[in-house]
Amino acid sequence: MPATLSAIGSMSFNWSILIVSLTGALGTALLMSFAMMVRINDERRLRQQAQEQALTTTRRANARLEATIRERTREQEALTERLRAWSYTDSLTGVSNRRQLEWRLTEIWQTQAQTGGGVSVMLIDLDHFKTINDDYGHAIGDVCLRAAAERIAGCIRHQHDEVARYGGEEFCVVLVDAEWPSTLDVAERIRHEVRRKPVVVDQVAIELSVSIGVAAGSPQQDASYQALLHRADQALYAAKSAGRNRVRPMAEDVVP
Ligand code: GH3
Ligand code: MG
Ligand code: MG
Repeated sequence: MPATLSAIGSMSFNWSILIVSLTGALGTALLMSFAMMVRINDERRLRQQAQEQALTTTRRANARLEATIRERTREQEALTERLRAWSYTDSLTGVSNRRQLEWRLTEIWQTQAQTGGGVSVMLIDLDHFKTINDDYGHAIGDVCLRAAAERIAGCIRHQHDEVARYGGEEFCVVLVDAEWPSTLDVAERIRHEVRRKPVVVDQVAIELSVSIGVAAGSPQQDASYQALLHRADQALYAAKSAGRNRVRPMAEDVVP
């Protein structure tokens, strides 16, 4: 028998070894594939976890940032409101200051120019106030000014009306769309309220009184609100000359 055939004979003898080897190789390949799949899955899971964690961290950071921004905005708005109130309030008496009065009069004048409505103004001056300062001191004078402002403001019912410190011991009241008789009623009420009871400071009772000049007009009738204030000032002067503690309307020929 030739040598080649003998070799083939001995090879057919090794089939079982070949099958075992192939099964082993296949098993190893399957195991490796499985291990690889597990590893790929693990890596994917870890990546997902890392992404979710990063997303959660980002969301939390965003929420914190938004909360901080909201808080800062609220603080900013509160500060702006405080500054705004500070800029238009008289610090001694708490009523509007002269700047706010002028701003409101400009605004009211513009509105009434469109609607054809009227405007009433009162200039209110404390009588013999210098004597109060001289007799009791400036600090007690301040207490009296605050009390007067409070009593005047207490007589004003409508939100769009205005009470302001015009300067020193003088106040200004603006009524929008008020009839002339009711304007005079309000002025009388103010005079009465300031006079009604003394201001008591350190067991000292201090009597107050005011003189009030009243004028009414409208953008149709007057060149400007300053013209109206001028008429009220003339009426105030007349109230002082007539003996104080009284209301004086503007001259008869311009009464509406
Ligand atoms: P009249 O009846 O003519 O108005 O007399 P009067 O004394 O009230 O008027 P006068 O103009 O002579 O004096 C006003 C006084 O008001 C003098 C001033 O020191 C005082 N005064 C002005 N502003 C203030 C203030 O903010 N606090 C105090 N305590 N007094 C003030
Ligand atoms: Mg005065
Ligand atoms: Mg005075």
